[in-house]
Amino acid sequence: MDWKKNDVFQVQIEDMSDTGEGIGKTDGFTWFVKDAVIGDVVEAKVMKTKKSYGFARLMQVLEPSACRVTPRCPSARQCGGCQLQAMSYEEQLKFKENKVRNNLSRIGGLTEIPMEPVIGMDEPWRYRNKAQFPFGKDKDGRIITGFYAGRTHAIIEQEDCLLGVEENQPILDCIRGFMEEYHIAPYEEETHKGLVRHVLIRKGFTTGELMVCLVLNGDVKKLKAPEVLVERLVKLFALAPGLDVAGEAGKAPCAGDAVCAETAAVDKMPVPAAHMVSISCSINREKTNVIMGKEIVNLYGPGYITDYIGNVCYRISPLSFYQVNPVQTRKLYGTALEYAGLTGEETVWDLYCGIGTISLFLAQKAKKVYGVEIVPQAIDDARANAQLNHFENVEFFVGKAEEVLPEQYEKNRVYADTIVVDPPRKGCDSVCLDTIVKMAPKKVVYVSCDSATLARDVKYLGERGYEVKRVRAVDMFPWSGHVETVVLMSRK
Ligand code: SAH
Repeated sequence: MDWKKNDVFQVQIEDMSDTGEGIGKTDGFTWFVKDAVIGDVVEAKVMKTKKSYGFARLMQVLEPSACRVTPRCPSARQCGGCQLQAMSYEEQLKFKENKVRNNLSRIGGLTEIPMEPVIGMDEPWRYRNKAQFPFGKDKDGRIITGFYAGRTHAIIEQEDCLLGVEENQPILDCIRGFMEEYHIAPYEEETHKGLVRHVLIRKGFTTGELMVCLVLNGDVKKLKAPEVLVERLVKLFALAPGLDVAGEAGKAPCAGDAVCAETAAVDKMPVPAAHMVSISCSINREKTNVIMGKEIVNLYGPGYITDYIGNVCYRISPLSFYQVNPVQTRKLYGTALEYAGLTGEETVWDLYCGIGTISLFLAQKAKKVYGVEIVPQAIDDARANAQLNHFENVEFFVGKAEEVLPEQYEKNRVYADTIVVDPPRKGCDSVCLDTIVKMAPKKVVYVSCDSATLARDVKYLGERGYEVKRVRAVDMFPWSGHVETVVLMSRK
């Protein structure tokens, strides 16, 4: 059949894409329908077609799926953030687990998959410790903030995203009020005029520490009275006098401190009330979609906040990478650590180590950990975090995993009992995998954010002497289509 734009048709939704669109078929032609849920029968309108597939807009749910729920967020459909708010959380978890299983069998060629139950969240809301809110104006010229609509830069006014922390809204209100009062214009993409582009807010979930960073298209002086804004923001989240701040910058007890490690004190520490620790500006004068500018001007506090994952503490600056779901991150790394099964005698390589988050987690139980990461600033953070936690058994290399590892192996015959990899979506380079095979560690622990490339790499290693022993999916991003996976492979 020849489909034309605006044709209306009915389709049963049978699957879900990685980006969360419902997938259905009519006569072998595949449709992607946003906001449709597996099990729905829907009426949809053709938006765009290619040779064998097309995109259609959901017009009406004719027969709702058993797993369909009413989205909790009023902006769920317009906002580009969530894709699965119309699907019950239980079904999402099943969907994600199945996706991993299917990829491992279809692409990975595995017949028996030792899957353990998916790790979901008990409370899948307000899990994000970081949000970046774009600022703009509505058609009446009022300053607004919220989120970009899917695929566009139109701002959906929404200060209280249900994935973000409750502190976001009062902070945004405060900044908006200040801007109105001092006649400070939000940035306008079309004209490249206006000052305030985005506001980044981060919260340390275990310390209560808050960070605010205003991304400006110009000099800080243009904020007119930054000291007034700072005073208001600090007052908004001031600690009650006398309250002890567990994670107060620089004084935090850390994993390497014997006392703390022995008593696992961090776990038992009460979480202090939210309080403002760091306020800064990031200067970004470029015409770009990249949110943060490279130059940071500090307005208040030490320039960073501190947070813990398990017993390990991390210093987080406005530009640092840090996992956005700390509760699930801990479970993900805990699973990786469990799969690694360390006794204290092992030498471990952590490839694609970022700011060393997994490396430091492993260092608690290993003799020696080597981390490799391509971004030099991330390695600066990794080294600082190792020092902060008094780890002396970690060493970091800047460079590509597929270059550093072969070089170290050829030159220094480096050894590994266990190799952990956590590559970006495209998976591991084959040179990297070949070197792993040559080094012949007993175990490979593969942490993955894309189960298709994971399956490809598992197959590659499977053909070279490694077999899959354990698999577990972890849901780091409830209401989105993404899923993380941890796989343990052992040398046969
Ligand atoms: N394990 C870290 C980060 C994982 S994200 C954490 O959990 O925090 C993947 C990381 O791989 C990113 O930090 C990215 O910069 C890095 N990376 C991408 N390509 C790489 C390559 N070829 N070699 C080494 N690191 C790479």
